[in-house]
Amino acid sequence: MIFIFGYQPLSKNLGPVQEIKCPNCHHEKHWILRSTTYFVSFFFLPLLPLKKRMEKTCPVCGFSQTLTREEYKTHENLAKLNKEALRTDMNTEEYEKRLSKLT
Ligand SMILES: [Zn+2]
Repeated sequence: MIFIFGYQPLSKNLGPVQEIKCPNCHHEKHWILRSTTYFVSFFFLPLLPLKKRMEKTCPVCGFSQTLTREEYKTHENLAKLNKEALRTDMNTEEYEKRLSKLT
């Protein structure tokens, strides 16, 4: 009988955050907030989460900065708001109003 165990990351794109000049490629773009959870997998099915990495990533070159849990929490709400603003027809006034509640 053969058992196939593995170790695999699953990434989640949470949305764009602030506009940052990348120290690697020097493009100024909205970086993407991303969380990656590493799982032990059994027959390619993720079973046991081992560690979670939270980062913001340059959309041009993929350069990333690791975030602390507190930094991630503040970025998470901004990413949700930006993602919703992109998905819906949110006007500037509504966006600014909701943005001011975050800070
Ligand atoms: Zn870059």
